[in-house]
Amino acid sequence: MTANTVDYGGGRALPVHVVLDDERADLDSGLLLRMHGALLGMADGQILRIGSPSSNLTEQLRTFEAASRHALLSVVPDPDRPGWSFHFVRKGRARTDWSPSGSDMALQAGGTQSIELLMPTRLWLYTNYDCNLSCDYCCVVAGPRVDPRRLADERVRSLVDQAVTHGMDAVFLTGGEPTLRPELPELIRYITDRLPLTLLTNAMLLRGSRWDGLRALIEAGRPITFQVSLDSATPALHDAHRGAGAHVAALRGIRTLIAAGARVRLAASLPEAALAEIPALHGLADELGIAPDDRIFRPIALRGAASEGEPIRQQDVAPELTCDAQGWFWHPLSNDADMRLSTSPDASMSEALDAVRARLEEIVSSGSARLDRFVCG
Ligand code: SF4
Repeated sequence: MTANTVDYGGGRALPVHVVLDDERADLDSGLLLRMHGALLGMADGQILRIGSPSSNLTEQLRTFEAASRHALLSVVPDPDRPGWSFHFVRKGRARTDWSPSGSDMALQAGGTQSIELLMPTRLWLYTNYDCNLSCDYCCVVAGPRVDPRRLADERVRSLVDQAVTHGMDAVFLTGGEPTLRPELPELIRYITDRLPLTLLTNAMLLRGSRWDGLRALIEAGRPITFQVSLDSATPALHDAHRGAGAHVAALRGIRTLIAAGARVRLAASLPEAALAEIPALHGLADELGIAPDDRIFRPIALRGAASEGEPIRQQDVAPELTCDAQGWFWHPLSNDADMRLSTSPDASMSEALDAVRARLEEIVSSGSARLDRFVCG
């Protein structure tokens, strides 16, 4: 990072667009008006850098963030001026949802009661990181040649047992592409004996023995929802991110699932410039008979392989307890270091939930909590 870029936590350098630099700069010295003027001239998502020697400014900008939604991304010492700091403020909050209802804040007010309401009730498992695709915005950089880092079968079963003990109400399997695991039907049987399951898939590999195993589970009436990624109603956008032929194959997979009687949910990851795809996706979902509640439209997160998207910080999203072979994470939208929970890799769910609660308390008491819902599933 340099004075002209800022890392919001996702390991990405965002460029600074406007600079305010003043040795009197804090909100008691007229800075608020100057900031307001600067922000008015900036586009959403642009970065304002404020240089100041004031020791009050960080707390003041945290309060400003809570009141204004302009995010204080980072505070770093100015390397050239002892005692000075740079404060990096993003205009507007990171968007977490494209659905018409928007991303209502999950947290309306601080306090213990709100924290308990924010505690996760669903378990997400990254079963493996290998994938038949290597999409250019994949938040975990999955692909055919990556280390699969498979979550061991015994660990999956143990985590599901712990989810039951903790009163969780659903399990989500994601990856990578979970259907690459040959023993997936066995795991699904174990999970769905205990809890409803959502399986995230690109639906491109539903054939041969892999499909036979899944179809038997569907026909047996197991509580499984197949959440299929589909970014557009026609191939252009979907294939631009995922590779030629991906759209045709995904649609074929969706039709295969529906013909077998499966519940299918569509999930589109869209940059803001592609929001015009949404009406056509609704039209396609209507044609396929997919229920309105089973359609997800969410932004691309600036994480993993993505070169553009929303710079979503940990405190921007409400927690969704997530585990992979390396440990526990705040949310399935990223396995970056800043999203890792402070527990050992093989920690129990109790320890992970304690870490979530402790982090929620920190975020709420900082006054900068967003904790919006980012709907991975
Ligand atoms: S976005 Fe999904 S389908 Fe694409 S590479 Fe990542 S895991 Fe695979």
